Amino acid sequence: MKFGGTSVGDVAAFERVINVVSSQVARRPVVVVSAMTKVTDALLAAFDAAKKADLPSAIASLGPHFERHVAVSKHFIPEGASNLFDAELQFARDELSDLLLRTSRRSLPLSMLKDAIVSYGEQLSSRLLAEVLKARGVNARQFDSRRLVVTDDEFGAAQPIWEETRDLVRLDLQPSIDSDEVPVVGGFIAANRAGETTTLGRGGSDFSAALFAAALDAGELQIWTDVTGVMTCDPRICPDARTIPVLSYEEAAELAYFGAKVLHPKTIKPAVDHGIPVRVCNTFEPEAVGTMVLAQSGESPNKIKSIAYKKNITILRITSARMLGSYGFMSAVFQVFERFRTVIDVISTSEVSIALTLDNTTELDKIVAELQRLGEVEVEPGYAVICIVGEGLRDSTGLASSVFLTIKDVNISLISHGASRVNLTFVIREENVAGVTQKLHRELFVV
Ligand code: ADP
Ligand code: ASP
Ligand code: MG
Repeated sequence: MKFGGTSVGDVAAFERVINVVSSQVARRPVVVVSAMTKVTDALLAAFDAAKKADLPSAIASLGPHFERHVAVSKHFIPEGASNLFDAELQFARDELSDLLLRTSRRSLPLSMLKDAIVSYGEQLSSRLLAEVLKARGVNARQFDSRRLVVTDDEFGAAQPIWEETRDLVRLDLQPSIDSDEVPVVGGFIAANRAGETTTLGRGGSDFSAALFAAALDAGELQIWTDVTGVMTCDPRICPDARTIPVLSYEEAAELAYFGAKVLHPKTIKPAVDHGIPVRVCNTFEPEAVGTMVLAQSGESPNKIKSIAYKKNITILRITSARMLGSYGFMSAVFQVFERFRTVIDVISTSEVSIALTLDNTTELDKIVAELQRLGEVEVEPGYAVICIVGEGLRDSTGLASSVFLTIKDVNISLISHGASRVNLTFVIREENVAGVTQKLHRELFVV
């Protein structure tokens, strides 16, 4: 059972989590928890302030967030009762001050310090949730995920090393589960083989939960969030979005990858590999069934299940007469991206040009410099990817025309269709996202 940040935001939210966990203790759950809402952002902001040598404001900015933890702890844990959380919080405050000081002095590599700092969100939330559950009679026990999830050294976006992680998780958590404890772990955080703290990338708690589920051969992975399952569109953009009852792994993966934040894109892989059903449920509406993500799902009558979007996309166009009728050109282009460890999202080619999209532009200047050796390069920032997902989309007739007819007044910069069975993807200017998504949603889902 994974609870996201909004599910552990304040006293009322913890109350809901306690009820949900208590109601399923008989199913022998493992609880994975994110940092309290806004805490990860606050820790990252403190790191940035410290980097700019503004140490006092970096430290002061965290005060209100520590207080939010204290408020929860005071509410649930009776005065005088044993409370491991208070000591943990004091330790975290001292450690964070020290890590921020080191950041301002740059006395350790910054990427390493950043992960060490940001990990306190989940370290604290998991300790707090375990103590709160105990105070309410659940036999909970906190484990430090940094001793369970082993990753490579890519701070900020570390890749788990599966066999080692699986063995550690089984070794530590299985005996605890077998003795009727409910293990509570922080999502998102891990450590490399040297024991240095790493993180799995923003939104990575879903991924952690999937790893724990796979390692323990769980009967089900539950992702508890602030909406009732995966919906036909982001409800923040389309208030009339509806819950999708069943999605296939492939549909869910495409949606997650192309922006539906409700599931982290990597969540699906361990679930697929181990055939574990994933259920997305709402802590605010625990009785609702939510969305089941399974190996297979049926086609919906209009073939379309959901619309996702991803903003902040840059288009790169590479044009070269050398490409005409020659081989090896694509490979030369892709090697550049491989060298700079940059992921391409959407791609479209003609006889003499390639257009592709990126969402990570940290290495853009270097990539462009190298690509210029191969041809003429244009860079166009400020775009968004829109992804329409549904089983059977590729083989349907007339769908693309109805989609593009609906938004005929909008310029489409790039289209990709047919690579996967389940999606139709195109790229538009970022400022058109809300309008286009709402129009499509109305046309495709509202009868
Ligand atoms: P958590 O803190 O639980 O991990 P997130 O904020 O990461 O929650 O994800 C939940 C949010 O994802 C929702 O509040 C919703 O705005 C957004 N979202 C985007 N696309 C979708 C979608 N298709 N279905 C449901 N939620 C979506
Ligand atoms: N707390 C982390 C984040 O905000 C991980 C997560 O919530 O899944 O990105
Ligand atoms: Mg999330």
